[in-house]
Amino acid sequence: MSSFTHSPFVYIISAPSGSGKSTLVNELLKSVRDLDFSISYTTRSPRGSEQNGKQYFFVSRSEFEKMVGDGEFLEHAEFDGNYYGTSVRFLRGAQRKGHDLLLDIDVQGAAQVQQKIPDAKSIFILPPDRKTLEERLRKRGEDREDVIERRLAAATREIQNYGRYNYILINDRLPESIKMLRAIVCSERWLREGRQLNGECAETMKIADRCRLANVGVRLKPILASFELPVQSGAS
Ligand code: 5GP
Repeated sequence: MSSFTHSPFVYIISAPSGSGKSTLVNELLKSVRDLDFSISYTTRSPRGSEQNGKQYFFVSRSEFEKMVGDGEFLEHAEFDGNYYGTSVRFLRGAQRKGHDLLLDIDVQGAAQVQQKIPDAKSIFILPPDRKTLEERLRKRGEDREDVIERRLAAATREIQNYGRYNYILINDRLPESIKMLRAIVCSERWLREGRQLNGECAETMKIADRCRLANVGVRLKPILASFELPVQSGAS
């Protein structure tokens, strides 16, 4: 499966665990029409109130490996000792309905999708700083202490890949973040449709533009510093 020439329009969202991504994604799906969510397959156990077929399809390692062998994944990756994968079924489903497709996947999966679907638009969600991320992970109360430590270390590694994304969304205050995410998705859609961007649309475009990788540099600096990471070229 080398490339998807007639794939639906794909949005990729990646974020370190605890950055508030699920809430943002849920809000986005409620407010944007014709946008499907790709429910991933995973070998990790359900957390809290998670249900099979809702947040994920929970499968065994052998079931997952069989799916890999059968070519059922657009991408797949191992994250924190578990497999995660995007089923091509969701891509086909969205294509049939003429809908866009939203993928919530890690940085390894994002790189695979970007290669197969080059016009996919990618969004990286960042917490306001490391301390806030740590607090959010603890407050969630779903993971053991060693898991939290591992997730913080993973967050630092993942954040190093922010420069590969089209947009950076700093999730500080939820209402504003929802507005920004919605602006990114809508403005990309309008640009594709060649829509006249005046009035409210122009305002929305401005919000999205502020999140473009090239425009977030100054706001990124303190966040990266809290993870002891340098600013990369591409973000000015
Ligand atoms: P969690 O276990 O916290 O739900 O997810 C862990 C990580 O796996 C997150 O970064 C999430 O975005 C990522 N993830 C979820 N589904 C997929 C998938 O289908 N493919 C890949 N590559 N990553 C995924």
